[in-house]
Amino acid sequence: MAARRISDILRAMSHIFEPAPSGRAKCRGCGRRIELGELRFGERTPNPYAEGETTLWFHPLCAAYKRPEPLLETLGRAKENLPAPEALESAARSSSAHRRLPRIDGAERAPSGQAKCRSCHEPITRGAWRIRLVFYEQGRFSPAGFVHLTCRTAYFESSDILDPLLHFSPDLNDEERRELVGACTVDADPAPPLRQ
Ligand SMILES: [Zn+2]
Ligand SMILES: [Zn+2]
Repeated sequence: MAARRISDILRAMSHIFEPAPSGRAKCRGCGRRIELGELRFGERTPNPYAEGETTLWFHPLCAAYKRPEPLLETLGRAKENLPAPEALESAARSSSAHRRLPRIDGAERAPSGQAKCRSCHEPITRGAWRIRLVFYEQGRFSPAGFVHLTCRTAYFESSDILDPLLHFSPDLNDEERRELVGACTVDADPAPPLRQ
């Protein structure tokens, strides 16, 4: 009994990579299903509703962008079993370098003019590109408003956000994706990016 408990505790402390044993779990990062047999990342975290721990499941790249620290902790010992550890590591390193980058939840054209930008506090006009934000707290991601696409450098303190922006915008069609890429490359706002 005691031995079992210790092994439970040891197992509970480590985040893991593993092939999904079913196709039922949804990724916490993007909300889409993780297919049977697809590699997934499990972040162990204290259960906010009960004693013990719970596991948050992610597509590895979704975790690299939204939960870079736990992913990086795990990457070192899991590297040889992963198909593309370098891509995960570079995504996670860039996301963890600026504290607000893990909040990126994709881009969209504002369907109304009601929301205000969290960066400049001006309304986001209908049809303008905006970036969705989420806050992570105690095992949950909650919607946290929007920023103008043009306010991205001021808000994120980095202009290098296109990869996570596209990654978390799977509902955009090809033409919208091209527009977004164009807006991100041409339409740079005046605040200079902070460089290390
Ligand atoms: Zn995902
Ligand atoms: Zn703004």
